[in-house]
Amino acid sequence: MEAPPGDGGGGTSCRLEFAVQMTCQNCVDAIQSSLRGIPGLQVLHIQLDSQIVLVETSLSTEKAQSLLESTGRKAVLKGMGGAVPESFGGAAVAMMSGLVLVQGVVRFLQVSPQSCLIDGTIDGLEPGLHGLHVHEFGDVTGSCDSCGDHFNPYGECHGGPQDVHRHAGDLGNILAGADGRASFRMEDNQLKVHDIIGRSLVVDAGEDDLGHGSHPLSKLTGNSGGRVACGIIARSAGLFQNPKKICTCDGVTLWEERERPAAGANKKAAGQPTPHL
Ligand code: ZN
Repeated sequence: MEAPPGDGGGGTSCRLEFAVQMTCQNCVDAIQSSLRGIPGLQVLHIQLDSQIVLVETSLSTEKAQSLLESTGRKAVLKGMGGAVPESFGGAAVAMMSGLVLVQGVVRFLQVSPQSCLIDGTIDGLEPGLHGLHVHEFGDVTGSCDSCGDHFNPYGECHGGPQDVHRHAGDLGNILAGADGRASFRMEDNQLKVHDIIGRSLVVDAGEDDLGHGSHPLSKLTGNSGGRVACGIIARSAGLFQNPKKICTCDGVTLWEERERPAAGANKKAAGQPTPHL
């Protein structure tokens, strides 16, 4: 079994644009000094008047956000981009939700023509490994079962993310800890952001055998059990493309909205999910 991706500091850097609550130059100085010297994260720019902090990082977005918030300020991710802006090929986000209390956010960033960075956190999973796949259709009207099969534009058999012969949508497994949270960051050389916008991302109940099992479903789906959560993959903002300060859809500010769950019953009662990305 291959080790599932963690949120380690290795790999390709990307740029993250955060809105951070800052009132004066002291805030700017405090953020700069507390983030100095952290491996895998560099503050590029802090704009006090527009409350923007731009960082370049090889850490997961969750980790970068918690580092920013460790300075005592709220932070909201507003945009993502490649460390080499001219090779940036688009960004997308899937807000994941399921029948049980599984919910999360997964982001896709085309950091170069070859490499798609996939970064996410999903909560409410059973501890252990769970198959993660891009599926054909962005249709969740019949729960996750209407998402179709694994995205497979080249007529391949099911496989693992490191295999040449695999479904393009095969992302292997993510690992949920004892608290039910899976936080992951991986790079993939088959998926392209522009191919998957409008499709869906699905997380399964069990472990994907990556096509190596003896079960009849192994070469089709990895035999990873039922679908526990899914989300439509939607285009999202690159760096400095998201001018939002007030959410006009339901009248709450960015900071109030941050306290609401991104998906699930509470959010839906107040209107449609309104991801910032
Ligand atoms: Zn597959």
